[in-house]
Amino acid sequence: MVMIDPANIHVANTYARFPVTFVQGKGASLYDSNGREYLDFVSGIAVCSLGHCHPAVTEAVKRQVDTLMHVSNLYWTDPQLKLADLLCRHSFGDRVFFCNSGAESVESAIKLARRRGRMVKGPDAYEIVCLEGSFHGRTLTALSATGQPVYQHGFEPLTAGFTHVPVNDIRSLELAVGRRTAAVLMEPVLGEGGVRPLSDEFLTAARSLCDRHRALLMFDEVQVGMGRTGTLFAYEQTPVEPDVMCLAKALANGFPMGAMVARAEAMEYLPPGTHASTFGGNPPACAAAMAVINVMTQPGFLQRVKELGEYFHAGLVKIASAHNAVVKECRGRGLIQAVELRKPVPDFAMRLLEDGYLVLLGHGRIVRFLPPLVVERDQIDRMLKALEERVADISA
Ligand code: PLP
Repeated sequence: MVMIDPANIHVANTYARFPVTFVQGKGASLYDSNGREYLDFVSGIAVCSLGHCHPAVTEAVKRQVDTLMHVSNLYWTDPQLKLADLLCRHSFGDRVFFCNSGAESVESAIKLARRRGRMVKGPDAYEIVCLEGSFHGRTLTALSATGQPVYQHGFEPLTAGFTHVPVNDIRSLELAVGRRTAAVLMEPVLGEGGVRPLSDEFLTAARSLCDRHRALLMFDEVQVGMGRTGTLFAYEQTPVEPDVMCLAKALANGFPMGAMVARAEAMEYLPPGTHASTFGGNPPACAAAMAVINVMTQPGFLQRVKELGEYFHAGLVKIASAHNAVVKECRGRGLIQAVELRKPVPDFAMRLLEDGYLVLLGHGRIVRFLPPLVVERDQIDRMLKALEERVADISA
């Protein structure tokens, strides 16, 4: 651990950072500036899903950087065409808009929904229905879609036209979706909001309400897409398909990239000149993403994620039942898992960091685990052991 004096640094103070500087990573391990190893169950918040410095991604980026680093989106490039093809072959989509982050991908989806709503339903049809507790990013409009006032305070006025309904509340959704609705936007499993999967009934209701009211069903899979839940996309484990899907984070395993995937009949409402991104889909990012998809679609890869997810979940359930007075619940799908503590323990992630383990802590009491999908069983065992010891320390 290193103590950094905030008075002597020039990086903006927007993050509550842990007192550690990482200099190297390999697989599920990170190494700090003193050479100490940590087991990474954060993965850059669901980014380095193939583990740190996966050779297929590193090689693909190196090769592409030596060949062509950037040209404007006024021209075609091979990597972008190939990646769009790959994403569409593996999903419901027909067209992809490339960008650089999750928030940018959500912004693109919102712009698409608004323009389509206006053209298909009329000038009043600009509303986007979202979920309470959701998280969609920090740009002003993605923040307006986000269903957590705690992130919005101080930035008002927010972008108009967003309503929020409670998770899995079909009646509220029915009341919210109507003539003015351009789209329903939701994470199929809420990530930052505490790892809460949406019910099949709720998703089916959302799909039929969107169809009835000619609105788009848009899934934000920025956190739970790209293999995290045990299928390439989380929607594959639900009874519905969306019309639009937002991706980022693990898409290029740490190379900054976002994408908005849509059906052709939706994407046609963003014709030339309506939206753009200078760096979006540049060749090294596309090369990285192609390498990611190639690895994740190898036979057995996603099945292993499912099995490891079940193994990890079973271990968490065991801890929860042994420490019932401290742990309220375990939730998860694939390798996004959470343990909800009965009361806040604000330094819980710090305690585990001291032991050499990286985990996320939301709202002071939701411990979230996002190990790389290539994590080994014995690494999960080590994490479970460290977790149990720290849980046992907490007095009920
Ligand atoms: N959407 C979801 C579901 C997310 O979890 C996040 C980030 O945590 C975002 C959007 C925003 O992504 P980014 O930080 O890349 O803008």
